[in-house]
Amino acid sequence: MSFNVAIIGYGGMGSYHAKFLNDESHGLSRVAGVFDVRDEARSGAAEAGFHLYASPEELYADGGIDVVLIATPNNFHAPYAKACLRSGKNVVSEKPVCMDAAELEGVLAVARESGKFFTTHQNRRWDTDYLTMRSAVETGLIARPYVVESRVQSANGMIHGWRCFKEHGGGMVYDWGAHLIDQMLQFEPSALVEVGAVLHMVIADEVDDAFTATFRFESGLEYRVNISMNCFISQPRWHVCSVDGSLIIPEWDGKGRIVKNAGEHVSEWTETITYTAAGPTRSMAPRPTNTLKELAPPIVARNCFETFYSNIAQAVRGEAEPLVAPAHMLRAMRAIDMVFEADRQKQSVKCRL
Ligand code: NAD
Repeated sequence: MSFNVAIIGYGGMGSYHAKFLNDESHGLSRVAGVFDVRDEARSGAAEAGFHLYASPEELYADGGIDVVLIATPNNFHAPYAKACLRSGKNVVSEKPVCMDAAELEGVLAVARESGKFFTTHQNRRWDTDYLTMRSAVETGLIARPYVVESRVQSANGMIHGWRCFKEHGGGMVYDWGAHLIDQMLQFEPSALVEVGAVLHMVIADEVDDAFTATFRFESGLEYRVNISMNCFISQPRWHVCSVDGSLIIPEWDGKGRIVKNAGEHVSEWTETITYTAAGPTRSMAPRPTNTLKELAPPIVARNCFETFYSNIAQAVRGEAEPLVAPAHMLRAMRAIDMVFEADRQKQSVKCRL
């Protein structure tokens, strides 16, 4: 059985979803109609052959809709979600799911009352680079990480449209941060206990266009998230330090390197001073190459749309819970709240998430 979807917000992301959702080849779903406030978006949806709702109320009254996908600017997610849930529809919201945890709690309360599900499109849980990094750690290729660095950087210098405005939930913490923080919380099971963050407004006037957040977990893991729209020499997407080696994955394709302890050739302390470009040193001397081995982490790839929407189809049929569960959304939203709070206080903040 396939499911019928209505889309609110037919911009970049709404129209991207529509292509997949209306692709008969997978038989999962059908786009039954679109609502958008913008003429250009409405014309685009009409050209693509979709029914146009004249108002949100007309959409709410459509009894044939199983799921509403919300792909508007971020400040509209919660009000639309509540209205759709109250009209008996399941809801998939784009990320960030809401503007803060208090708002999300309100939406989840309505979802519980309505008996319908509310979930969010956390597609980057299925990104190749992330899955490859995660698998390298989980299969023990690189064991017991103590620092994970996760970055997305460009020098595009372009922040545009609603993303420039605070009231619409603009800025990079909500935009890319919502993805990278969700990935982090899926990766690390222990409690998040401290968050430090510095937000920058290099290009934009009222929202962050670059930030670094450092998350300390109860396990001892330090996880750093860095997003920048103004970085002219990009650093690797992933850099992981573990007790027995390091991993680097430069790009989205997941191709990377692990350099690790060769096992039997453990490096031993000697009194020898090595003369390097940095001057004479013992502690920072290069490690003897015969104590090292290098390998490529096996690349793990999944079709994120297929995986996500197969689960939504099962959830509509009552055969599964949405993979992006209320507890995941709340934990991630609270972590985002902490990022803003740490920046506001200009010091790290304690928490237990
Ligand atoms: P966009 O500006 O391209 O599209 C937003 C659309 O919403 C526009 O067509 C606009 O006319 C419409 N809209 C604005 N206010 C509305 C309202 N009150 N009611 C109905 N329609 C309204 O933005 P986008 O890049 O498509 O982003 C939309 C959402 O998707 C955001 O929440 C964003 O964070 C998310 N997003 C997610 C991903 C992802 O990878 N998961 C990628 C990009 C964007």
